[in-house]
Amino acid sequence: MTTSLPKVIRVAVPLPLREAFDYLPPPGMDAAAVPIGARVTVRVGRQRLVGLVCEAGVASRVDAARLRPAQACLDEVPLVDAYTLALIRFAADYYHHPIGEVVMNALPGLLREGVGVDAAGIEVWRLAPAVDASHASVTRAARQRALLDYFTTLGADRAHGPEALAGFGDGWRAPLRQLMDKGLVLRERRPCLAASPGGDAWPTLNPAQAEAVAGIWPAEATPVFAAHLLEGVTGSGKTEVYLHLIERALAAGRQALVLVPEIGLTPQLLARFRSRFAVPIAALHSGLGDAERRCAWLTAAAGEAPIVIGTRSAVFTPLPRLGLIVVDEEHDGSFKQQENLRYHARDLAIWRARAQGACVVLGSATPSLETLHHARAGRYGHHRLRRRAGMAKPPALRLLDIRHKRLDAGLSGPMLAAVGERIKAGEQVLLFLNRRGYAPVLICQGCGWLARCPRCDVPMTYHAQARRLRCHHCEYETPLPAACPECKQVDPVPLGQGTERLESILAARFPEVGILRIDRDTTRRRGALAERLEAVHSGDYPLLIGTQMLTKGHHFPSVTLVGVIDADQGLYSVDYRAHERLAQLLVQVAGRAGREEQPGEVLIQTCQPEHPLLITLLRDGYPAAAEVILGERKATGMPPYSHLALLRAEAPGESVPDDFLNAVAGALSPLAGGEVDLLGPVPAPMPRRAGRYRAQLLLRAATRAPLHRLLREGLPRIDALPEARRVRWSLDVDPVDL
Ligand code: ADP
Ligand code: ZN
Ligand code: ZN
Repeated sequence: MTTSLPKVIRVAVPLPLREAFDYLPPPGMDAAAVPIGARVTVRVGRQRLVGLVCEAGVASRVDAARLRPAQACLDEVPLVDAYTLALIRFAADYYHHPIGEVVMNALPGLLREGVGVDAAGIEVWRLAPAVDASHASVTRAARQRALLDYFTTLGADRAHGPEALAGFGDGWRAPLRQLMDKGLVLRERRPCLAASPGGDAWPTLNPAQAEAVAGIWPAEATPVFAAHLLEGVTGSGKTEVYLHLIERALAAGRQALVLVPEIGLTPQLLARFRSRFAVPIAALHSGLGDAERRCAWLTAAAGEAPIVIGTRSAVFTPLPRLGLIVVDEEHDGSFKQQENLRYHARDLAIWRARAQGACVVLGSATPSLETLHHARAGRYGHHRLRRRAGMAKPPALRLLDIRHKRLDAGLSGPMLAAVGERIKAGEQVLLFLNRRGYAPVLICQGCGWLARCPRCDVPMTYHAQARRLRCHHCEYETPLPAACPECKQVDPVPLGQGTERLESILAARFPEVGILRIDRDTTRRRGALAERLEAVHSGDYPLLIGTQMLTKGHHFPSVTLVGVIDADQGLYSVDYRAHERLAQLLVQVAGRAGREEQPGEVLIQTCQPEHPLLITLLRDGYPAAAEVILGERKATGMPPYSHLALLRAEAPGESVPDDFLNAVAGALSPLAGGEVDLLGPVPAPMPRRAGRYRAQLLLRAATRAPLHRLLREGLPRIDALPEARRVRWSLDVDPVDL
């Protein structure tokens, strides 16, 4: 006798479960009729959760008695198409991450919460025509009055959405409703994605650009999967190549996805795209409101936005007609998500392009070593733009030896002189120092006491303006101590410099000169970064001081001198990627200078002017430096010559993470089969952070397959370890910092 097993749907629910869950179909539906890629609501315990249907009409894997029905199906047609579902599955599999949490990364917030897909458009409000300016009917309601004043200043022809009104505090909807009831304000729905204006002229490509475009996407071709590296110095015209490739993709009836590292980059780039293509362009980035994001995502998923530009999570956007993916600044660290699902958007982009038969272009002035390695092995096409487009010449890089030199807040005499000269000549200077705050250390010169974070065991940064000590690794901060808390004899003094100190020294030195500092402290407020970037171009600030934030993609055409205050931080770091990062940083920061007619100069202060990496970089450029670093990686057996996975663990008890990772090593080593090395456990680079002790275990293999086999077989064993309950642990496949 055979009992026929009930047919079920398999649902990815947002819980830390490694697999999708089996459910009976919602009441009244046949399991096979539930669309794969649609959302359903299910009950888990007392919670009602929104999950995504991954399979439908399949035989159940669990006991019929334990099966529950899903509550309701939220989508009549799949929200997520088959390609995107395949990508989600691949990511869950490759990163060994719960599939429901991968879905959470892929969907915009509102859709995750189960909001419908029908109501297209965003709510906006405007002043009703011919409203009496005295607002006689709202004299006593302060909040209504404030809102009405706001709409009056805007005038009746400008409508504003929830983003603008959020400035009125959380409860703005109630007074707004009252204004609508009185007929003073009108509500309407604005389509979220209008076609952009287009119409700007297309420059003729120079020969190198034309060759790249033809090599990547031959005219009138239908796309097939291929990966290409577009290597070109900053300002060499890579973006222009992207624009032409997108034109070809659109002409072939396909969609283009452009991934960019940072939100700060998007406005300029977006404006450039909008002035070229008269089509709806969906922008997906963290600056969007929920409704706008949902709208942009749905428009892209419906195939109605031919171009999508977004930060890393945009790689999950369903694009039924995808033909081209551009990953701009592909070396940038922000493509790697560093918590939860630790995915790399560039790597997923390549997988996705292959699965969907699209062409993928990785662009950078300083390609990652992985990408260079693939290009050298012939797996990627390799196109170079060697010269800057237009007239500008490449900047000249020079080392300033600061050994035995008197420094003023970290600035050497020659650096100060060069800054002074450029300012006198009416030019703009950018000083780069990747450390915010006034000084990284506060120390007592009487007894040697040093201000440390009690939760992280590292020095706290002194912030002069706020008169506080702050830990840059956790949220901890304290007021500045009046005297040394240890010996009570002497006042502690700041040691070393941050951007705040640099600013105050330069202000004293050049009192008449406008100084603009751009770091996390000066750009905390929403919109502040955009304002400051705008101010760079105003001509009011001959002196710019910035951290890493300023090295990314921004164009500062009037900057003729870039000063790197401290290149040494990256030379002797223990991190195996430190050299790669330093080379990329120096070339990127140099690329900000002298973009137009004036040639740029870059001065790099260092105590190691004979360091082979610096010498090679300055004499022969980034490609030669990359060769040197690849040689180091080969010699040490590190990526791209091996594959890594890192298990991190943390706990409040000192030996607990270690005990756990030792148990993990014990559980894994019988499975490792000589193909996977287990290295560790060792303390993390920061052995204590926010009160928790941290340790890590590195897994390394020459090829991917045995590493992933080990993880697949080993993770259930790790989950089952009693020690696992006493730690927080995570797995990072292809970690970018160790
Ligand atoms: P990248 O993306 O490599 O930094 P861009 O594409 O932004 O370079 O080009 C740098 C500058 O040169 C831009 O101002 C751009 O408009 C201009 N440019 C690029 N290609 C050409 C071209 N073929 N003819 C004229 N100007 C160009
Ligand atoms: Zn002291
Ligand atoms: Zn701390």
